Amino acid sequence: MIAKKVIGLPLKGLRFAMKSGDTLIQHAGTQALRVKTWLDTSKSKTDHPADKFATINNDKDANAVVNYEGIDPLELEFQKSPINLVPAIFLIATPIAAAVITPWYLLTHQVSAPVWGVFGAFMVWTGISITAGYHRLLSHRAYKAHPLVKNFLLLGSTLAVQGSAFDWVSGHRTHHRHVDDRMEDPYSAQRGFFFSHIGWMLRNYPSGRFDYKNIPDLTKDKVLQIQHKYYGLWVLATNVAMVAAVGWLVGDVWGTLVLAGLLRLVLTHHFTFFINSLCHMFGTRPYTDTNSARDNFFLAIFTWGEGYHNYHHFFQYDYRNGVKWWQYDPTKWLIVGLSKLGLTSELRTVDDTTIKHAEVQMQFKKAQQQIDNATASGHDIPHAMRSFQDRIKFEYDAFTQTVEEWQALKAKTIELKKTEFADRLHEVDEKLRQDYAKIEQKILAHNSNLKTAFRSIGQSPKAA
Ligand SMILES: [Zn+2]
Ligand SMILES: [Zn+2]
Repeated sequence: MIAKKVIGLPLKGLRFAMKSGDTLIQHAGTQALRVKTWLDTSKSKTDHPADKFATINNDKDANAVVNYEGIDPLELEFQKSPINLVPAIFLIATPIAAAVITPWYLLTHQVSAPVWGVFGAFMVWTGISITAGYHRLLSHRAYKAHPLVKNFLLLGSTLAVQGSAFDWVSGHRTHHRHVDDRMEDPYSAQRGFFFSHIGWMLRNYPSGRFDYKNIPDLTKDKVLQIQHKYYGLWVLATNVAMVAAVGWLVGDVWGTLVLAGLLRLVLTHHFTFFINSLCHMFGTRPYTDTNSARDNFFLAIFTWGEGYHNYHHFFQYDYRNGVKWWQYDPTKWLIVGLSKLGLTSELRTVDDTTIKHAEVQMQFKKAQQQIDNATASGHDIPHAMRSFQDRIKFEYDAFTQTVEEWQALKAKTIELKKTEFADRLHEVDEKLRQDYAKIEQKILAHNSNLKTAFRSIGQSPKAA
């Protein structure tokens, strides 16, 4: 997910605030591009373009282009995307500035406890505003929020400098829709760690151009329109004016700017970026292996619960990412806590049976892989593996039957709700509830039988 042009929009505000400076930057950017284009052209001249591409002049397809190096022309265009100058400078300069200025400041100045307190509070506010605000509220509509909560999270998300809500949400919805697609997913993990972490924002890649067609619910929102239009000003107001004002209140403007401003900004940037990079690389895949998203407890610590990314990609409308009660997901705790105060409502969840069904399905898939690996070796299958294979086959037949019963029950539920009279609905509901509970118990039993089977071959059913 995340920041389309972390600065793409700040830039618009900067343009508003410092027009001449911005024109200079833009001019420099245009010049740099011209030089780059000229260099590319000169290079391709010396490389003899005819060596790379040849147009086939035959009757069938006069325009077909063949690339003799075997590179897809679209990929080549992708690789030649122009540099996003201001975001690139910002994203490279701020970590360097933080790495140099913070240690120097801490070594040469005494920082008071209240300043550290502001740093901590701003870390929480910024990070959780992205996860609870931009992500679960605006991107996925996983719950409804009181305007007070929504605007507080919106302010925190602006403080995060990850683009306007329009850009962020549009990019994130595209990420879910085209996850892992090298051409369509804006931060496709298939292009490696660097690209999915930060590289995608450094150039103006075709996959990073959003047209807002996928955010009709947001473009109507007046508050979000204002945030988008004056985004740069909002960024300056929150990251400089507000941080400095709080610094003045605690008696140390510069200390607060360095820690709660610069250091907090860089840390929250990269913690969020981890979700696009590391959360698509390291961890387990308990719910689906049809995409690269992983569940990772350690990453959940840095990302306010978003580390359970495999679950999230499978059940994206659930307000929880760490769905188990014990999983570390402070964002879910905040949303549920606020619901007790009446400040959030309509929290969307996926029912437990559906979640367990997905998990058990994945465990069967992993079991099948184990069996395939053992049989592919060509040697005699060990006795333990052979009995594992029998157990899995037996269990899978039973599981298929349970799933059929479950589907039939769902169809019956729809039919009953349509035909039963209102005064009998209560009775019907109670019976259905009991039937669903039975199905859930059966799926739990399949899950525990699978665990036992995996233990017999010294394995865990968790899919990496
Ligand atoms: Zn993802
Ligand atoms: Zn998402």
